[in-house]
Formats: sequence, C-alpha cells, structure tokens
Amino acid sequence: MRICRFNDNRVGLVEGNEIVDVTGVLDHLGAVNWPYPRGDAFIAALPDLLPEMRKLGDTGKRFRVADVQLLSPVAQPGKIIAAPVNYKLHLEEARADVGIHFGSQVKTIEECGLFLKATSSMIGAGEAVISDRRDRRIDHEIELCFVIGAKARHVKEDNALEYIAGFMIGLDMTIRGPEERSFRKSRDTFTVFGPWLVTPDEFGDPSTVDFELKIAGKTRQKANTRDLIFDCKKLIAYASEAYTLEPGDVVMTGTPAGVAPVEPGDILNCRIEGIGEMNVAVRAA
Ligand code: MN
Repeated sequence: MRICRFNDNRVGLVEGNEIVDVTGVLDHLGAVNWPYPRGDAFIAALPDLLPEMRKLGDTGKRFRVADVQLLSPVAQPGKIIAAPVNYKLHLEEARADVGIHFGSQVKTIEECGLFLKATSSMIGAGEAVISDRRDRRIDHEIELCFVIGAKARHVKEDNALEYIAGFMIGLDMTIRGPEERSFRKSRDTFTVFGPWLVTPDEFGDPSTVDFELKIAGKTRQKANTRDLIFDCKKLIAYASEAYTLEPGDVVMTGTPAGVAPVEPGDILNCRIEGIGEMNVAVRAA
C-alpha cells in the first residue's frame, strides 16, 4: 500500500498515477488531551486503520498525482534520526574533499554514532528546498528512509524490520561548513520526505534497493543499499540502544557518494526502486 498526505492534510492511497482520498479514516483516531502524545498518532494507529482505508478507497474522490501538492507522508515525527557516512565510497569522498569535511576528521559511523535533525526542517515532495545562503555550499543527499511503526527499545537485528511502518525517499540537505551536523542539516526545508509511504509488505526487502538522484537528466548519485555500512536492521538496533523509538520516528539511512551542490532553479529528481520518484524544486529565499 502507498499512503500519502496531500493538499490541506488529506490522506490518500496512491494507485498508479492517481490518488484516492481516504481522509475519512481520520475519524477513527481517538480524541487526545494535553499533553498530547509525542510522535505521529496516524502512524501509531496505522495497522488498525488499513482495512478502513481500503474500504474508503473503493469510493473516494480521485485526483491525479500531478495535480496535488504532496506533503511529508509522516506529519509529526517525534524525532528524525540520521546516519552519517554510511556508505564507504561517500566516506572516502568526504575525507578527500575539503569542501565537505572543512578540516575536521571524518569519523566512521562506529566512531561518531547517529545524529538528529530538527523536525521543523521537514517538508514534502511538493514543497521546495530553500537555498538562502548563496555564500555557502548546499548539497543534496538522497537516502532511503523508513518510519518506525511501534515503540521499540533494545531491538535485536533479527526482528528489527518488524518495527518499520513504511519506506520513503529522503533528502538530507546539507550546508557544508564547520558547524555541528545537526545545525547544518536542520535548516528549514532541509529534510524532504516523499513522495509517499510504502508499506513493508509492498516494498519488500530493503537490503538490495537501487536508487538514484539526477539533476537536469544528469546522474549525481546512484547506488544500491547493499553497500550500506550499517543496514536497516543494524541501524534500528543501534538507534534503539540509545533512544526509545516511537511511532512516527524517521530513520534516514545515509547517503552514497556523489553529493554535490544545488542551485536555485534545480529540480532534484529522486528515485528509489519500490517507492517511485519525486521531483523536488530548489528555490532562492
Ligand atoms: Mn545524510
């Protein structure tokens, strides 16, 4: 199943080039009182909501994908967990390019652990990345991302994939420079999720997935998740050793080699096998 959020927070099922509106399913979410539970209530309830969404899908209003504004499939992640340098070739390019490492030693994921991105930096595929620092290099990083579906702590790799609610494409936009990663990667619009969430039964095995980022038809990044240093299972185990994972949390698995600057006017064409593609605009402030 492919689930999207679009226009003014409508919920849709993606079927080919069409979206069928199943927003009525939100009537099944329970009422909440302050303090509101952290995380994403829709993702937390997803297993119970899926049958109703299927039913609503038979009669819901249909839109063309091209005619809607796609928002991030997950509305309220409690946290966005990201893997640094998780492909060997990207580690090598980061170490070789002063424009990436800015004089600091690029450590491995074993040495530096994971990092968090501000949830306020998140946008969907139909919104635009804002490039408002023309004095600095801003790079694209395409990454396979997944959303946590159930509360988890100290997860074993063997059953780690059971905690995934779905997969999506992510862009971990990055301003290069000497500041902390979480600062450089948490600017407004620097976390793009989309175009929709693909449930694990439809997505299949995340361990051998092709993906690619192109600008103006030219390939910038092209890789396969088989080259991840920490794969999805290991990332869940590693993250859940430190953090309680909660429904709606997102894990960004890291970017392969080929990171490069973007310019206002660019359209980032991002494709991941089993998900589809999204075209994300870069605009000046
Ligand atoms: Mn990244």
